[in-house]
Amino acid sequence: MGLNKKSVDDINVKGLRTLVRCDFNVPLKEGKITDENRLVAALPTIKKLIADGGKVILCSHLGKPKGEPKPELSLAPVAVRLSELLGQEVKFAADPEVVGPNAKAAVEAMKDGEVVLLENTRYRVEETKNGEAFSKELASLADVFVNDAFGTAHRAHCSNVGVTQYVDTAVVGYLMQKEIDFLGNAVETPVRPFVAILGGAKVADKLNVISNLLEKCDTLIIGGGMAYTFLKAKGYEVGTSLVDDEKIAYCKEMMEKAEKLGKKLLLPIDTTIAAEFPSPIDAPIEVEVVPSNEIPADKMGLDIGTKTAELYADAVKSAKTVVWNGPMGVFENPILAKGTIAVAKSLAETDATTIIGGGDSAAAVNQLGFGDKMSHISTGGGASLEFLEGKELPGVAAANDK
Ligand code: AMP
Repeated sequence: MGLNKKSVDDINVKGLRTLVRCDFNVPLKEGKITDENRLVAALPTIKKLIADGGKVILCSHLGKPKGEPKPELSLAPVAVRLSELLGQEVKFAADPEVVGPNAKAAVEAMKDGEVVLLENTRYRVEETKNGEAFSKELASLADVFVNDAFGTAHRAHCSNVGVTQYVDTAVVGYLMQKEIDFLGNAVETPVRPFVAILGGAKVADKLNVISNLLEKCDTLIIGGGMAYTFLKAKGYEVGTSLVDDEKIAYCKEMMEKAEKLGKKLLLPIDTTIAAEFPSPIDAPIEVEVVPSNEIPADKMGLDIGTKTAELYADAVKSAKTVVWNGPMGVFENPILAKGTIAVAKSLAETDATTIIGGGDSAAAVNQLGFGDKMSHISTGGGASLEFLEGKELPGVAAANDK
């Protein structure tokens, strides 16, 4: 796909009211931001627009206030931290209507190079329905619109899609551009061999990703809970492992597709089993590793086994491009995180371009301290998955073409 969209580099916003849709959906604990990666990721675009001399109006959603003001989901703490990170005041336009009298007054008072942050866009019930009135209100604040929120790019909401209909200029920011460049190049014009690794709980969540990546990659590696539906499709006993019986036929179809296309489809050759799912999830648990075709009927597979971890690490070693989405096992439990850690380590050690689809695999990589060893860690779990499915993201499509 690549990026054929206008970006902030194609415009100069001097003196212009510039509305920037950011992804400030950060985790909060008692009003404190516990992970500020998304704020840091937004800085390059904001700094560029300040340097241009624009009036920079930031907006974002935070959590799920479901269309009404919820004080605990106010963006006020983000304005405070962002001011510190930018080294310049980010004025918070507290306003239960988001674009109400307070916000309008704050924007009116702006001088060139100043920054205002609007309240949580999801305080408005129309936001997630892409309602016309709120889209127009947002647009009324702005001469130019910049979308830098990759995390919501797979949704058509007022603040990332609706608003673009009522402004003349809509471009993407640096973060969005980076996401699309990395994911787009990996999928459309990968340096080969291209290895895709998919894990996580359910096959059903990743049907289109599996099918699309099989066409694009050279080797598709499957781990996590979704592997057991494949193993059952091969005719193996999988005990009480997570299986989606309705998707067995689909898994067979994918294995046939791989064969027909001459692609390698790697499944676990051994698996880490236990008597039951750990409860709580990080509780100590007794495990053993068995070949994948020897899972006892009363045991469940909760991680890839040691030989599989080696097999997958070897496949990564010979790759030039690797895309990874989804853990190899119940990585929340240290005893069942070994497969996920082994894969993360193999990615950290390779010179290949390594791209981590957001969500759990991004969290795992960061927790293990391998974050800076990856070429790109996506900031959007759902959005990066839809990208890997080959879908056009409405938030990207809405920006002006070059
Ligand atoms: P997803 O949200 O689809 O990326 O899946 C992530 C979840 O899958 C994590 O919470 C893991 O604990 C879970 N998971 C990974 N492997 C297994 C497995 N073998 N059985 C059950 N759950 C698993």
